[in-house]
Amino acid sequence: MIAPGPILLLGAPGVGKGTQAKELVRLWGIPQISTGDILRANVAQGTALGKTAKGIMHRGELVPDSLVNEMVAVRLQEPDTARGYILDGFPRTLAQAHWLDGRLAATACCEPAQSLPLVAVSIQVDYNQLLRRISGRRNCPVCQTIYNIYSKPPQRAGFCDVEGAALTQRADDTEKAFAERMRAYAAQTTPVIEHYRELGRFTEVSGDGPIAVVAAGIVKAVERLRE
Ligand code: AMP
Repeated sequence: MIAPGPILLLGAPGVGKGTQAKELVRLWGIPQISTGDILRANVAQGTALGKTAKGIMHRGELVPDSLVNEMVAVRLQEPDTARGYILDGFPRTLAQAHWLDGRLAATACCEPAQSLPLVAVSIQVDYNQLLRRISGRRNCPVCQTIYNIYSKPPQRAGFCDVEGAALTQRADDTEKAFAERMRAYAAQTTPVIEHYRELGRFTEVSGDGPIAVVAAGIVKAVERLRE
C-alpha cells in the first residue's frame, strides 16, 4: 500500500485500540491520533482544556464535541498526517463523525493520501473480557509500558520491569467508571458505527487474540476496504 490514508479504529473501551494503533504506526509509519492521550496530556499539563476535561474524564463521560473537534483540527494540520493517520477514540459521537466527514471533504484537495476516503475498522471483544482488561490495566508513568495484572503482570507486583517505577491505574479504569464508559459507548458511539457501516467503508475484526494476529486482521481489512 503506497499511502494508508485516514483510518478510524472504533470499538468499546478496552478492545485494544491504542495497542493496535501503535502496531499500525510501526507498520505504516503514519501517526496515531488518540484524543484520550491528547486530553490526558492536557490534564497533566494543567491547561485550560485539561481543567475542563479532568472531572468529565474521571467520571467516564464524554468531553464536549466542540473541544474535541478543535483539538483534532489542530492535530490534523501537522505535516506528519500527509500520508494518512490512525484516529483512535475519535469520532465518538455522530456530531463528531459529521464534523470529521465535512472537514475531510473540505481538505481533500491538497495531498493525494488526504483525498482517500476514510475507512473504519471496529474491533470486537466481549464484555467480560473487556472488564478484565480495563480493571486489570496498570501503566508505567515513566516509559508508558502497559501491564495487566491478570494477563501480562510485571515480574514484581506493582512495579515496572523496565523502569522499576511504581505502576499507576488510570482514574477511569475502575469498575464504576468502566460501566459509565460502556454506557456512553453504547448510547453515543454505536450510531457512529452505524454511520460508517452505511457509508460502506466499514468492517469488523475480532480483537480476541495475540496483538500481532489482531493487527494482521486490521491490515487485511484496510487493504480490502481500499481496493
Ligand atoms: P480513551 O483513552 O480513548 O478511552 O479516552 C479517555 C476519556 O477521554 C474518555 O472516557 C472521554 O472522557 C475522553 N475522550 C476521549 N476521546 C473523546 C472523544 N472523541 N469525545 C469525547 N470525549 C473523549
